[in-house]
Amino acid sequence: MGLLSAFAPDEVARSVCDIDLDALAGRGIEGLLLDVDNTLIGRGSVEPDADRCAWLEGAIERFHVCLLSNSVRGTRVRRLKERFGIDGIAVWHWDRKPCTGGVRRALALTGTAPEHTAMIGDQLLTDIWGGNRAGLYTVWVERISPREFIYTRHVHRRIEAFIARRLQRAGLLPGPARAVGEACEEQ
Ligand SMILES: [Mg+2]
Repeated sequence: MGLLSAFAPDEVARSVCDIDLDALAGRGIEGLLLDVDNTLIGRGSVEPDADRCAWLEGAIERFHVCLLSNSVRGTRVRRLKERFGIDGIAVWHWDRKPCTGGVRRALALTGTAPEHTAMIGDQLLTDIWGGNRAGLYTVWVERISPREFIYTRHVHRRIEAFIARRLQRAGLLPGPARAVGEACEEQ
């Protein structure tokens, strides 16, 4: 249970658009660290769809937002930073999620304490684990698209499905159940 809880998100949502921003603010969240790939943008797209753009604009009005993406080149992070006028970092090597170096760098940009910051992302093994390790509130969203890097699809997602089933059995996975079911079915 102790090991398992490292992967347990505080909240599960089908999409970022379904995250209740009022509720986040109500629990004292002031900063948001946002994953990019498959959280804001599906693979093969260059920018978020209209709904996610609108959500992001709403979030930017209320929270200190910083993008945090595991990426070698950081092209998409740069584009989003410019388009929305927000902070963002692309991390690799020892700073990549689930390591906490990138999270700490992002917190320096949002200027928010870990306990007042939420990490939002589509992967238990990077976004949620890394966010939990750094003491953030974590929100697991369903991936936008099943098109993913081969390593992500064949290694990360299988481990993720395995962990998600155990989290669910242990009662450590908050609803909606449908998001979890789909994450588990893909093997
Ligand atoms: Mg992602």
